[in-house]
Amino acid sequence: MNEAMALERADTMLRELGLTRMADLLPSHAEEAARESLTYTQFIARLLDAEVEHRYQRYTAAFMRLARFPFLRTLGDFDFSFQPSIDERQVKELATLGFVESATNILMLGPPGVGKTHLAVALGIEAVKRRISTYFVTAQELISDLRKAYLENRFERRLKIYTRPRLLILDEMTYLPIEPADAAHIFRVVAERYEKGSIIITSNVSYGNWGQLLGDAILAGALLDRLLHHSVTINIRGQSYRLKDKLRAGVPLPAQPTAGGGEQG
Ligand code: ADP
Ligand code: MG
Repeated sequence: MNEAMALERADTMLRELGLTRMADLLPSHAEEAARESLTYTQFIARLLDAEVEHRYQRYTAAFMRLARFPFLRTLGDFDFSFQPSIDERQVKELATLGFVESATNILMLGPPGVGKTHLAVALGIEAVKRRISTYFVTAQELISDLRKAYLENRFERRLKIYTRPRLLILDEMTYLPIEPADAAHIFRVVAERYEKGSIIITSNVSYGNWGQLLGDAILAGALLDRLLHHSVTINIRGQSYRLKDKLRAGVPLPAQPTAGGGEQG
C-alpha cells in the first residue's frame, strides 16, 4: 500500500470509528511529523490529544446548552470589591465544586441586583466545564412547568428534569403566587434531591419568611430542614450593581433594608 492509499484507508477507518477529528488532522499531522522527525509514538499521541480535546469541547458545549443559563457571566466577570459582604475566598472555594460531590446546597440571599444570579450562573459554568450536568430554572418557570405536567398526568416523568442533573440552579425564590399544590411540587424537588444532588437557590426572602413564601409553615419547615442540612448560605448585603453608576454620580438611592432581617428587596 503506498502512502496515498494508506492515508485514504486510515481516513475511512478513523471515520468509521467516529474519530473524525483525527481523520481531519491526519494529513497535516503526518506531514508535520515527517518535518519535525517525530517518533511514531509522539505522532499518535498528538493526534489522540487533538481528538480528546475536540470531544471535551463538544461535551462541554452540549452541557452548556442543556444547562439553559439565562446569560454567560463568570467569576472572572464578578467585581468582588463592589460587594465586600461576599467572602471572595469562600466563593472561589465553592468554584472547586466540592459542594457538588457532597450534595451540599448553596443559598444566595440578598436584595435585587447584588449578583445572586450572576454568582449562581458563574458556579454553574464552572460545573459545566467539569462536565457536571447542570440545569438552570427560575422558580416561576419550575412552578408553571410542574403544574402543567401535573394537570397532564406526567408529573413524575417531568420531575426528573429537576432531579436528574447533578446541579440544579433554582433562581428567584421570591414572593410568587404559590398555590399549595405548587409548594408541594417544590417540596418534592427538594426532597428528591436531598443528599443526592446540589441545589443553588437564590432568594430575597430570609428563612424566617419562607412559611409565608410557601403559604404553609409546616411544609416550609420540612423543606428548609432538608435544604439547610448540608448547605452554605451566602448572605449578600449591599447596593445593587445595576445602580452602581447612579451611585457614582451621586444620585441618592432609596434606602435598602439590611439583610438578615425580614423580607429583603
Ligand atoms: P440579582 O440576581 O442579585 O438580582 P444579578 O446577578 O442579576 O443580581 O446582577 C445584576 C446585574 O449586575 C447582572 O448583569 C450582573 O452580571 C451584574 N453584577 C452584579 N453584581 C456584580 C459584581 N459585583 N460585579 C460585576 N457584575 C455584577
Ligand atoms: Mg437574580
